[in-house]
Order: sequence, then structure tokens, then C-alpha cells
Amino acid sequence: MLFQPDMETLPLEKLRSLQSERIRNLVAYVYDRVPFYKKQLDEHGIKPSDIKGIGDIHKLPFTVKTDLRDNYPFDLFAVPMSEVIRIHASSGTTGKPTVVGYSRKDINIFSEVVARSLAAAGCRPGMKLQNAYGYGLFTGGLGLHYGAEKLGMAVIPVSGGMTDRQIMLLRDFQPEAMSCTPSYAQTLAEEFAKRDIPLDSINLKIGILGAEPWTESIRKQVEAGLHLDAVNIYGLSEIMGPGVSNEDIDEKGTGSYIWEDHFFPEIVNKDTGEPLPEGEFGVLVFTTLTKEAMPLLRYWTNDITNIYYEHSYKRTHIKMGPIRGRADDMLIIRGVNLFHTQVEEVIQHFPDLSPYYQLVVTREGNMDEVEVRVETSPEMNHAENMEGIKGNLRKKIKDNIGLSMKITLEEPGVIPRSEGGKLSRIVDKRKVYS
Ligand code: ADP
Repeated sequence: MLFQPDMETLPLEKLRSLQSERIRNLVAYVYDRVPFYKKQLDEHGIKPSDIKGIGDIHKLPFTVKTDLRDNYPFDLFAVPMSEVIRIHASSGTTGKPTVVGYSRKDINIFSEVVARSLAAAGCRPGMKLQNAYGYGLFTGGLGLHYGAEKLGMAVIPVSGGMTDRQIMLLRDFQPEAMSCTPSYAQTLAEEFAKRDIPLDSINLKIGILGAEPWTESIRKQVEAGLHLDAVNIYGLSEIMGPGVSNEDIDEKGTGSYIWEDHFFPEIVNKDTGEPLPEGEFGVLVFTTLTKEAMPLLRYWTNDITNIYYEHSYKRTHIKMGPIRGRADDMLIIRGVNLFHTQVEEVIQHFPDLSPYYQLVVTREGNMDEVEVRVETSPEMNHAENMEGIKGNLRKKIKDNIGLSMKITLEEPGVIPRSEGGKLSRIVDKRKVYS
């Protein structure tokens, strides 16, 4: 189902002219209203009238996370506080939180894009959504909440964590959909198995999973463990919150639609900032085309992915592939770039291993070492197999990623689980030495 079919299938030429009109207005708007942007554009010798259409976007300077921190908390707001109706802050995964504000129109658009996202995920009016994203400063809880209401779903605002209560509500209220982080969906799937709760005692059909990187191996585990279709939702508070992009349930695995009438995406080279051709991997950059309270020009998300059109899909909007990781979470090991999702992808080909793993990075002298701690699956009980599996995993990782890593097989249940929110899968012990 398409929530706003006219906009979601707008022919590309029309989408481009809409984006062009919006970027012209936006640049004039921030130049007038946000001292930071006036100064930045002046310093780069750019006048708002130089931006004639969306094709001129690359003339604009980037906005980066430190710009938000330098203007903490409210100096990037383009409207007086009397027009702001909500304030959120990033969960501060890396450093001090960044603050964002929304006008009434922003909140309406936020709800609309989440409603589009949920509809793409297969949700329908009348279905119940158990929303297990955290409520609070984090945009996940309230973002999903308002969008689900907009679509006409019945929201169960349970928030994150409290696994006993989640399970009770899943059984008693029989929601058809649930939203949470993929790592928390793993936790729930595992709890159902551990407690021997039959899956026919619940009615979940759709999991809307996001807020952290995940791969097909987690999709498989969660889909089998909870009997549902697991669909990706992506977003970040600086741009809006969840619902900047979403997968369609019928096009699973082919990427997530970016709602590009509101969020204009670019992929740029992570070192030079130069725009990259369609399909190439680089840093995702967004311009908020319609935001009122805190619009951002060319915001450097630090997320690494690619974007591409495919005209056989249901909608005209561009798609993005899965996020490999954040540029600042990328490990550089003996000169090789490494995202934890690359290891996750290799692990999925080993039926005797579970997608519970952790990368432990240490430094011996000036050599960096990575240890992969990965759990064997509960069904695997052949002690004699262990060395063979370790050797095969080590070889596969070396062949696919180009790095030799130490492999440690752990008993099921040893690796930390998500207790409700985002889960870090990297333990970087090098920081202790520096
Ligand atoms: P914080 O930066 O404190 O974590 P946010 O909650 O705004 O704040 O998180 C946004 C970030 O979460 C994104 O920039 C991205 O790195 C990650 N993220 C969100 N959704 C996804 C997703 N579906 N896949 C991968 N990463 C995601």
C-alpha cells in the first residue's frame, strides 16, 4: 500500500522540479534566518540566487556534526521558540547530544513520512503496532508513534526493554506489527525459544527494524525466530528521525526508499567530499528540503552506503542500500578498512554459528589485532568440530575482507545482548593505551 501514492510515484522530472523549487526557497530561508548559514555562505562566496535548482546543490558547503555542537543547543533554529512544538536530541552514541527542534509543520511531515514508511513495510490501518523503540529524547519512540497514528494503526506505546512485559503484550494484545532495534528483535526471538513459548501464541507479521546497522543474517534469524517479515527503517535525528527511508515488504533486500521530496540525498567521497556516481559507496549526505524549525544543508551523516534508482520498483524515489556502518565506527586495521557488518555477513554462512558476535580490537606493539568472539548455535554440540569451524571462518574472513583475525568460539548466551536499544558490537581496547 502507498500512503501518498501521487507523491511516492511522482515522475522523476516532476520530482526534480519540486526539489529545485524547494532548494531555492530553502537556501534563501536559512540565509535570512540562521546566522550560522549566512556566515557560511558568505565565507564561501555563495549568494542564495546562485542556487537555481537542485543541480546546484554541490555548490553549497557541508554541515557537520560539530556545527550542531558548536551551536548547542538552539542556535541553528530558524524559527522563534514560540513556533517550536517539540525538541529532541540524539542519543549521544558518540559524544554530547545534538539537539533538534520541530515546528508543527515539521511534526506533520515527520508523521507523514513515518506513515509512508509503515505502509511500505506492510502495515495497514486497523493493525496494532507494539512500539518498542525508546520514548524520550530519542526520536525513535515518538517518531514511530505519531506516524502509526497517522496511518490509522492502534499504537501500543510500550517503549524499549522490559522483555517480560513485551512478551506478555505480544501474547495478550496480539499486535500484527512491532518496531524495535534489530538487536532487540534478536533478544526477543531468543527469549521465545528459551522460554519455549509457541510462536502461534502471538500474531506478529511485520517487524520494523532500524536505528543500527544490520545484515541479512539478523534478518533470517529474526524472521525465523518470530515468524514475521523483518523490514528496514532508517533515519537520524538531525534530519528528522526514523522514516527518512524505508524498505517495501515486497521488495525486501533491494534497499530502502528515501522520501526524496523531503530529504535530498547525495553520496560523496569520504575523504574529498566529491559527489560519487550512482551506485558507488560513500558518505550519505542529506539536505532537508521542507524543514522549518531546523533545516540543514548538505548534512554529513557519516553513514556509509550507496544510492540507486531501479525503474521496475513500485515507487519513483531513489533507494539506499543497507548502511555498512558509520565512518567513525570504521576500524582501520593494518591499513584495511573494516566495518563489523562485514564480519556479520561472513558469519551468516556458517550454520553452526549464531549471529551473536563481538569484535575485540587490541594493539600488540604497533600491530592491531582483531578477535572475533562468536557464539556457536545452541544446536551445535560437536566438540570435535570446533577447530574445523574456526579454521574455515578464519579463512573465509581472510578471503572476503583481507584480514587475519583471531577466532574464539563461545558458548551460547555469552555475548552481550540488546536490552532494548542499540547494541555496540565492537570493543576497542586500543583506546586504553592511547
Ligand atoms: P545517535 O547518533 O546518538 O545514535 P540517532 O538516534 O539519531 O542518534 O541515530 C541515527 C543513526 O543511527 C544514523 O546516522 C545511523 O548511523 C544509525 N541508523 C539508523 N537507522 C539505521 C538503519 N536502518 N540501519 C543502519 N543504521 C541506522
